[in-house]
Amino acid sequence: MQIHNLSLQNSVLNTFISEIRDINIQKDRMRFRRNIERIGEVLGYEMSKVLTYSKKNIETPLGHANMHLIENHLVLCSVLRAGIPLHNGLLNYFDTAENAFISAYRHHKENPEDFEIIVEYLACPDLNGKTLVLADPMLATGKSLVSTFEALKPFGTPKEVHLVSVIGSKQGIDYVESHFSSNTHLWIATIDDTLNKRGYIIPGIGDAGDLAFGQKLQK
Ligand code: URA
Repeated sequence: MQIHNLSLQNSVLNTFISEIRDINIQKDRMRFRRNIERIGEVLGYEMSKVLTYSKKNIETPLGHANMHLIENHLVLCSVLRAGIPLHNGLLNYFDTAENAFISAYRHHKENPEDFEIIVEYLACPDLNGKTLVLADPMLATGKSLVSTFEALKPFGTPKEVHLVSVIGSKQGIDYVESHFSSNTHLWIATIDDTLNKRGYIIPGIGDAGDLAFGQKLQK
């Protein structure tokens, strides 16, 4: 897997990441969502640099310009609900992409430290020969990305796969790396060292879905 950890280079991205981490700033849900969206825009822009381009002649009011434009047929797929702001950020830049949505949640067993990923709702176009962009803001254990990819298999075989994430744990990235082919790209804003026993990234940000949309009742 080709891992592109964008925080290895200083940029304005650091501002967006520190704001979603900051216990005071993250209380502003609208700002939190917009920061995740901005991170999605930056990750999408970086990803665009490795896509396939073809020459197109564009007519302007005063002449003609040769431009190189993206050829890939993109399908953006996100995991509900935390993935929505990241998805919107990607869609802001790849506005003609097709879209897929999947619901995956952690079902905690009797031992609160033990959970399985349950995939339920799934809406997806044909994936054959397309560029699949799988977005999940928190790459914690990596299990939801792997379960999502498994669930998408009946929809066809994509030409290439790009994973997009905001924060990952080293452990989750190792897990994902062992389940995706070596030509898969991972575009990630930053990577933290630790995953706690409940599957939360430390220091991380907390629960991305709750921060974006409000607390849910735990059932
Ligand atoms: N999901 C979250 O929202 N936060 C984490 O730290 C891990 C998974």
